[in-house]
Amino acid sequence: MNKDQNIYDVCGLCGLRSPYTIYHHIDYRIGYVEGGGQGCFQPQKCNEMRLSHITRLRKLEKIKTKIT
Ligand SMILES: [Zn+2]
Repeated sequence: MNKDQNIYDVCGLCGLRSPYTIYHHIDYRIGYVEGGGQGCFQPQKCNEMRLSHITRLRKLEKIKTKIT
């Protein structure tokens, strides 16, 4: 068995290990933030954090757009 298949993605916000491995397709994940990585698999638990995270990402996107 390949050890790599046991690498789990973590919530990019609270750092908790998600039930998904890094090979789990993002379309089949719960809480994945496109462009932001794996979010919480319990969205209600760190929803506020996630919202602020998304806001931060949008700001970064705006900055990127200005640069390019
Ligand atoms: Zn979380």
